[in-house]
Amino acid sequence: MQSFLPPDRLLLGPGPSPVPARVLAALARPTIGHLDPRFIAMMDEVKELLRLAFRTGHALTLPVSAPGSAGMETAFVNLVEPGDTVIVCRNGVFGGRMRENVVRIGANAVMVDDPFGQPVDPDKVQAALRANPGAKALAFVHAETSTGVASDAATLCRLAREHGALSIVDAVTSLGGSPLEVDGWGIDAVYSGSQKCLSAPPGLSPVSFSEAAVAAIKARRTPVQSWFLDLTLVMGYWQGEGARAYHHTAPINMLYALHEALLALREEGLEAAWARHRAHHLRLRDGLEALGLSLPVAPAVRLPQLNAVAVPAGVDEAAVRRTLLDRHGIEIGAGLGELAGKIWRIGLMGHGSTPENVDRVVAAFGEVLA
Ligand code: PLP
Repeated sequence: MQSFLPPDRLLLGPGPSPVPARVLAALARPTIGHLDPRFIAMMDEVKELLRLAFRTGHALTLPVSAPGSAGMETAFVNLVEPGDTVIVCRNGVFGGRMRENVVRIGANAVMVDDPFGQPVDPDKVQAALRANPGAKALAFVHAETSTGVASDAATLCRLAREHGALSIVDAVTSLGGSPLEVDGWGIDAVYSGSQKCLSAPPGLSPVSFSEAAVAAIKARRTPVQSWFLDLTLVMGYWQGEGARAYHHTAPINMLYALHEALLALREEGLEAAWARHRAHHLRLRDGLEALGLSLPVAPAVRLPQLNAVAVPAGVDEAAVRRTLLDRHGIEIGAGLGELAGKIWRIGLMGHGSTPENVDRVVAAFGEVLA
């Protein structure tokens, strides 16, 4: 065996996205102690930079030491207790995972289903909230990576608030790529991932909790069932003045990488990053449509960072992906769940969202489908 040298790949799938050289360089810096005062000062900067990216003043904002799925689990295990009722919206694969989290806690998941490829329907959510007074939370996916659809998070969070329910929002794919206003929309619990529009490697999950969410955690009748994800313990390491309590050994170099990726986002400006994702999405749409391909998601709810493309009749979707990878070094995604075989997913996320990458993937598609 020898050292692993990864092949040259252009990552235009549903994540991870390409990691820029400055972030890789940060990752390669010498490891120092996770309780070193200089490291703790950097952790404070990471929290501040995350607040900028999430557009929030929430004190409880930090990266969980594990991928987006752990951020999802952190939100559910801390806010939901056995016997609670949670309204869960499912319009793609990741809404289904939210349900799994609720059920495994021993809580009651009331499902609001919409077809894969459609946004969450606020009217159905309102009906479910009315039919379930006292529901603890409303949970939905802001940017459904499995379908390329954005849901109206502002409206859904408003409905939750009007019915006294906390909002739990999956922003794994939206953070840094399309508008997300944690305070503006009144989101109570939000989680994301480092490997999508932030363009850091996978392995960290930024989360943020409102004061109402923190109050709900403090008022729990039962201990959080996960020791590792129990925020009351994690907070001892990530929050407070002076000495931090050891909880687990932080992934030190990954945090250097996230810090660098967030600095890059701050330098570009959040709104400029959103505009860049939008512009390159339109360029991709034009290029694909010129090849005779179509984007099945309605234009008003398309995610700029994750583009679903209909597989034309008679085309072997897996063979096309394989050829793109083998001949062009380009990774794109397959459809998930009920969309398997029906769509491709082209991600233009973070550092990957450039005009050159759009032109390269369109040209490659043209060649492969010719
Ligand atoms: N939620 C959404 C919307 C996602 O797209 C993903 C990953 O693709 C996840 C959750 C899970 O994140 P991870 O794969 O980092 O655990």
